[in-house]
Amino acid sequence: MAVDQPTQQSAKLASSALKMVVGGESVDAADGQTFDVVNPADGKTIATAPLGGKEDVDRAVAAAQKAFEDPKGWANWAAGKRGRTLAKLADIVKKNSEELAQLESRNTGKPITSARGEIIGASLVFDYYAGAANKVFGQTIPVSKPGLDLTLREPIGVCGLIVPWNFPLLMASWKLGPALAAGNTVILKPASLSPMTAIRVAELALEAGFPPGVFNVVTGPGGSAGAALAGHPGVGKVAFTGETTTGQEIMRLASNNVKKVSLELGGKSPNVVYADADLERFAAESPYSVFDNCGQDCCARSRILVERSAHDKVVELFADATRKVKVGDPADDKTEVGTLVSFKQRERVERYIEIGLEEGANLVVGGVEPDDEALKGGAYLMPAVFDGVDNDMRIAKEEIFGPVVSIIPFDTEAEAIRLANATPYGLSGSVWSRDIGKALRTAKGLQSGVLSVNSNSSVHTEAPFGGYKMSGIGRELGMSAMDLYTEVKNIFIDLR
Ligand code: NAD
Repeated sequence: MAVDQPTQQSAKLASSALKMVVGGESVDAADGQTFDVVNPADGKTIATAPLGGKEDVDRAVAAAQKAFEDPKGWANWAAGKRGRTLAKLADIVKKNSEELAQLESRNTGKPITSARGEIIGASLVFDYYAGAANKVFGQTIPVSKPGLDLTLREPIGVCGLIVPWNFPLLMASWKLGPALAAGNTVILKPASLSPMTAIRVAELALEAGFPPGVFNVVTGPGGSAGAALAGHPGVGKVAFTGETTTGQEIMRLASNNVKKVSLELGGKSPNVVYADADLERFAAESPYSVFDNCGQDCCARSRILVERSAHDKVVELFADATRKVKVGDPADDKTEVGTLVSFKQRERVERYIEIGLEEGANLVVGGVEPDDEALKGGAYLMPAVFDGVDNDMRIAKEEIFGPVVSIIPFDTEAEAIRLANATPYGLSGSVWSRDIGKALRTAKGLQSGVLSVNSNSSVHTEAPFGGYKMSGIGRELGMSAMDLYTEVKNIFIDLR
């Protein structure tokens, strides 16, 4: 399907003026300002969205506080009833998944098949936390005074959820699911580049039976709407996914009222490849681990650390596999890599290609705009493989957030671990070896929150996800996420 022919379902949203969802109502920004939402595959404006600011955040916080404090409201519903409402949302998202996937693909340039997978993924996250709602337990504790000591896990209150543009609805679902299951009320602030599915899912939540004010969406720039939310005294917790520098600013803003903060930030993750690994399988499967979503993935394995004796073979196999990656129109079912999220993002990545060449690295394949005339109007870039890279070069140190990988040789296990850890980040990574002892020693040595062995898989709805060092604070997904959205209250009862 051509990108400028939306489905009947999405036609309404894709051609219209979007509205925020506040207190159960669809509203414009208080001052009526809007911004354009653009399709990076052709540069065309597909909708306008409200340019929310401080006044809009104040209104959303007031609505969320009212919903939270309602004695018969969401926070005071039986946990199982909240779970059933989340399950309904999971179901409605699944039923509307084609519409949501079309919106996500047109808004971000990601292949439609990836967008479909992400929307179903978001629905599964809602489903998981539907089940979690009534499984958040307190403890009884044998204290030294005579009596009974017990803990309660309670919702925090109003949560501000600030998300990026790379996996818009999926990243939002990781926060919405546990926050809502625990009984909080929320204000979701999507990235300005990708507001469409956030708005649509808040509308669907009203259909699912969420009371007004429980799930609000404010759209607008990070520096105004996002900062107002992160600093708002009525917000008890802020959960953020985005760049590390933005995360640092969020921490500063949240310190106003000592908000709880959880952060999922950037990465510069390694793929450590030993010579005894199944190199053919590594090379066939691993382009996905760095070029998926056009490299705009916090978990992207953007450094391949390869044992020197296997270096030349890995360069050859990986470059061949990269040439086979199908770059094309995001609306085409066969496309594996679509566009970058914007023309500005492509310029940024192209600058890194120049930096790599200036630093003396060898560009083996890609790094240029495609020859295909049909793709000239979009923010496309062919996946790039550099070898001859030193771990101290900027292309090996900085998060490029584009389809670029650096291949770096090592000689010993100890050197592999040292190079892998020589970064301020610590999010993800993989180890490839047929020697399970060596693979596990390496995995244990890596300072990363999410690792895989002989696999690129880093995200599992049921398992904790998050970063060491400057890649973040806290663990999302699994039951760990419930800790991020609950306070613990200890009660001692004197039994005399
Ligand atoms: P970004 O930091 O520019 O923006 C993220 C969100 O923060 C957006 O909604 C933005 O509007 C808002 N924001 C920006 N400035 C703000 C401010 N001063 N106060 C409050 N909010 C503000 O990030 P991005 O470019 O949208 O996303 C890419 C980054 O996200 C990459 O660094 C990537 O690694 C990271 N990321 C991390 C994970 C993870 O789980 N660790 C997942 C996805 C993306």
